[in-house]
Amino acid sequence: MRFAPSPTGHLHVGNARTALFNWLLARQKSGVMVLRIEDTDLERSQARFEDQLIDDLRWLGLDWDEGPDVGGPYGPYRQSDRLPVYREQAERLLGEGKAYLCFCTEDDLRKDRERAMTEHRPPIYSGKCRTLDRAEAEGRRKAGEASAIRLEIPEHPIRFHDIVHGDVEFSNEVVSDPIIVRSSGMPVYNYVVVIDDALMKITHVIRGDDHLSNTPKQVALYEALGWPVPEFAHLSTILGADRERLSKRHGATSIASFRDMGVLPEALGNYLALLGWAPSGGTREIFSREELVKEFSLERVTPSPAVFDMEKLYWLNRHSIKQASSERIDRLALPYYSRALGDDMAKDSGGRPIDDYPWSPEVVHWFSSVTRLLVPSVDRLDQLPDRAFFIFHYDAQAALAAPDNRETLTWPNTDAVIARFTVKILEDESAQSGQLTPERFKQLVNEVKAETGAKGKELFHPIRLIVTGSHSGPEFDKLIPILEEGSRLTLPKHVLSTGERVQAFAKARAK
Ligand code: GLU
Repeated sequence: MRFAPSPTGHLHVGNARTALFNWLLARQKSGVMVLRIEDTDLERSQARFEDQLIDDLRWLGLDWDEGPDVGGPYGPYRQSDRLPVYREQAERLLGEGKAYLCFCTEDDLRKDRERAMTEHRPPIYSGKCRTLDRAEAEGRRKAGEASAIRLEIPEHPIRFHDIVHGDVEFSNEVVSDPIIVRSSGMPVYNYVVVIDDALMKITHVIRGDDHLSNTPKQVALYEALGWPVPEFAHLSTILGADRERLSKRHGATSIASFRDMGVLPEALGNYLALLGWAPSGGTREIFSREELVKEFSLERVTPSPAVFDMEKLYWLNRHSIKQASSERIDRLALPYYSRALGDDMAKDSGGRPIDDYPWSPEVVHWFSSVTRLLVPSVDRLDQLPDRAFFIFHYDAQAALAAPDNRETLTWPNTDAVIARFTVKILEDESAQSGQLTPERFKQLVNEVKAETGAKGKELFHPIRLIVTGSHSGPEFDKLIPILEEGSRLTLPKHVLSTGERVQAFAKARAK
């Protein structure tokens, strides 16, 4: 099995799924997984994309037994390092009369195409140079005339079997005699992919179905080279919710962007596996990587397009977050707070990336409790700072003006609850020094209840409004210690204690 990306951009969900399916099969069958970098498009390929591809694949939990970074018996594994191999095989094909030199210029070809169009013929190569005398052609090449090398396509339809699409047949006319080496000397994708897959002993070619129409050319090449044709499996296109081909327009599509959003690799891997594959019998959707390795089969991959469902990915991510150790989640969550507080920290980070801001152990510990408080309510870790907004930003004026809070403020008991609660907090010594415990808080709230007769939401909504600025939010038991501890820490943004909040609220209300 192999994954053969072109390093021309970021790894996207489509390619990542291809990589995953190859990997699952390789691991299931104890096969060999090869990573090959297809960088013959020199203008668009960049080394940094290769590094990123490797990082993204590793982040997804994939590995390979042979590749540019790990070596292997059939290397090199980067196509730009294999040009002599391609040259040698092209000369062999020429020598055996299975390929021929073509001296047509770009201009000639364009004119041919235009003529074909006006005569309502398919714009395929006319085969003009096929009939040139081979010795004469060789002479012209030796004399320095620019020439491409074309494969001679046999005069019969080309058939192959695809594990996903079944038997496929292309008429030889559609294929025409493809160029395998350009006049610049650069070999083309359809040719090098065959040389590499054959020499690297690939038994299964699993890739996106955008390559289905390339496959007849490749099959013809295997035949010309006298090499066995591998098994093919072309995976369906991935569509966005609007049933258009998934693209940047649909938002996040690169693996890096999902990682940045705080999607866990096991959730993304699980989701990618379900794009076009379903296990036999049943509607199970949550799989560990080991279970996927065991259950996966190409026979159960569907040829119809898969629709990328963000909600399902988020659902799987919530599950993965719940399953993950809290230490891991705490560690992954920290950079999101750092980034959110970035403006305030940029001054003193000394140019260090904000992501790894050197927090003190006490602050790290405090952020962990913030994460544990808020993580049950998020789909992705990057939503945490937003959920934590009320911890860092307290605005009593805004809370009083918010349309959401209007109803709470009109209840008959609200004024009394606010008044009693305010007095109690302002008179409490522990609350005034940022040392209020959840037990003491509960005690004070119970006193307010007894004194005002308010209970349930009539009691809790106004109190929550004072403390958080909103009538709904996390449980006080967990929240109070976070506010109190936060107020005692040195953070780029001061966290108001419960006492400070009550004070600010009273002041805003008095205005
Ligand atoms: N380099 C090709 C691509 O990224 C790979 C095609 C193949 O797997 O054969 O589309």
